[in-house]
Amino acid sequence: MGRGPRVARRAARAAERRPVRACVACRARRAQPDLLRLTVDDGRAVVDAGGSRRPGRGAYLCGDTTCVERAFARDALLLRRALRTTVAATVPDELRRVAPTASRGA
Ligand SMILES: [Zn+2]
Repeated sequence: MGRGPRVARRAARAAERRPVRACVACRARRAQPDLLRLTVDDGRAVVDAGGSRRPGRGAYLCGDTTCVERAFARDALLLRRALRTTVAATVPDELRRVAPTASRGA
């Protein structure tokens, strides 16, 4: 009866699957699935949509319009610094498309 060790182990594993990451723009810490991920593919920054969990360096963003705009301010300085690579001009549009709370041209 009651909670066996299996319950505790499952809870621990669930916590492991929700690592916390900081948004590069506002530095807020959130569970990784709540953040947008950018990663480096073939030497350039790309949006890691759909949580494909590409290996390697990643940068995270809240997806708030403010954070997206801040991340791409000054020629994407924050992202270039976080990813240590160049950021393609198409990345802001890609991000706005996948970010649920980002502006949609309104
Ligand atoms: Zn943020």
